[in-house]
Amino acid sequence: MKAVQFEGHGGTEVIDYAEFPDPEPARDEVLIDVKAGALNHLDVWTRRGLPGLSLDMPHIPGSDGAGEVIEVGEDVARFEPGDRVALSAGVNCGKCEFCRHGEHSLCVKYHVIGEHVRGIHSELAAIPEDNLLPVPDGVSWETAAAAPLVFQTAWRMLLTRGDVRPGEDVLVLGASGGVGHAAVQIADYVGATVYATGSSEEKLDHARELGADYAINYEDDDFVQQIRELTGKRGVDVVVDHIGAATWQDSLKSLAKGGRVLTCGATTGGNPETDINRIFWNQLSVIGSTMATLGEADDVMELVWDGTFEPAIREVLPMSETARAHEMLENRDGFGKVVVKPDSEL
Ligand SMILES: [Zn+2]
Repeated sequence: MKAVQFEGHGGTEVIDYAEFPDPEPARDEVLIDVKAGALNHLDVWTRRGLPGLSLDMPHIPGSDGAGEVIEVGEDVARFEPGDRVALSAGVNCGKCEFCRHGEHSLCVKYHVIGEHVRGIHSELAAIPEDNLLPVPDGVSWETAAAAPLVFQTAWRMLLTRGDVRPGEDVLVLGASGGVGHAAVQIADYVGATVYATGSSEEKLDHARELGADYAINYEDDDFVQQIRELTGKRGVDVVVDHIGAATWQDSLKSLAKGGRVLTCGATTGGNPETDINRIFWNQLSVIGSTMATLGEADDVMELVWDGTFEPAIREVLPMSETARAHEMLENRDGFGKVVVKPDSEL
């Protein structure tokens, strides 16, 4: 088969689309004819290399993807050849104290397909049955590939961890990114008043279409000042910050007293200066969130499959142009998800 792969960490030049041995499904695995994959910022971090991340090389990236079942291992019960499936990339042990409480993404052995083990950006992939979601007929391969990781991440972060309630003011930073545009839709669905930031008028228009009540161009305006004006100096109840170092202090300044900042990533760096005085005096909460439980993933994907939520697709590229897909993420070009398809599917 052909697979996106790299032999070592580095810039986009390390990415290749080349032959790789066909995978054999283990007893609990499903062999998939991959129709589409989607990129996440995680793919950029994995390519560059992360502290403590030791991969079997060559590594095949890809934590989002969808396709058709062509073969199942002997222990697989939920799927058969011909079924349409999408990857849900978080792998848990099912046995530790956190798994026993149903907190799968707190698993002590938690890892992510495509980040820690080989992923799905290839013509074929062998995936554990537990990591597959059934995809209804009528849902496009692009949607099935683009939605799972960001929607499950945003769902758990806003609802389970952040406890966002109707009528609250929620500021979503970087609303044009994958998690950001999912967070805007979910906050709107819950009945919050949604404030979104973006770097161009086009991105702000997209954010408004997805449910943002107020859209702020952070290239033109200081978003802290804008939030103060829009909320009558009060600040917002919740900030969704997956940007990290570049926005952290301003996120804390945008919060109302008793507010909470939710984080699921730090694309500009994970070690910002912080303001402990502001955190205790204003009684702020800093809340982390990663991926989702199996049940949370099921809940949010139901709402993707029925069209309540929709991943925006910024571009569909052949897998042979994955390097360009990475550059689009790094340069923050466009709105929504970059999808890649096996060249043979185009
Ligand atoms: Zn576990």
